[in-house]
Amino acid sequence: MSILINWFKSLFKIKKMQNIILFGPPGSGKGTQAARLVEKYGFKHLSTGDLLRSEIKRETALGMEAKKLMDKGQLVPDDVVIGMIDSAVQEAGDSVRGFIFDGFPRNVAQAEALDSLLGGKEMKIDRLLVLEVPEDVIVGRILARGETSGRADDKNEPVIRDRYKVYREYTVAVADYYGDRGLVKEIPGVGKIEEITDLLVSEIDAI
Ligand code: AMP
Repeated sequence: MSILINWFKSLFKIKKMQNIILFGPPGSGKGTQAARLVEKYGFKHLSTGDLLRSEIKRETALGMEAKKLMDKGQLVPDDVVIGMIDSAVQEAGDSVRGFIFDGFPRNVAQAEALDSLLGGKEMKIDRLLVLEVPEDVIVGRILARGETSGRADDKNEPVIRDRYKVYREYTVAVADYYGDRGLVKEIPGVGKIEEITDLLVSEIDAI
């Protein structure tokens, strides 16, 4: 009997939860749009960049090691970010409405790890929504953000271009990985913030 009850519960959970990867190059508006979607739907926002910056702020050993790579626009090792996401998903518990992953997965190995950790909790990725923004717009936006963000990696144009290069070289493959399952939707990421949110909302409502 209890097996049957658990089976019904897990079925309900799969139906109820929506897990979304908000995807796109650095500076494409993922953080801004994630905050708006959290407000509308009550998702739990998980940004590996934010989690790493909080480690840096607290001056942990992990944060200090990560900072060296982040300041150069390079990726932090997979086991570090996968461990962070794993803990954050466990901590969030079963009550969340779903997750918005932002800045993660950054390569196919991370995507495979994400699928396996979600699978272990009877969850899955429902959509990968790509915010499409051309490189030159990205560079201008991030330099402007660097005026106030306090982020070393937002202030230096060669580092910003390197971050974009890393995106093209390793991260775009994540969209192909989920694209093979028909889970990818592209959204124009240039325009009014509210209009971009509306496009994301219609994709999420269609799931
Ligand atoms: P973001 O805030 O997403 O632009 O990330 C800022 C920096 O944190 C990146 O340039 C990387 O150095 C590091 N980082 C964030 N997320 C990841 C990830 N999933 N894998 C590896 N490095 C990451």
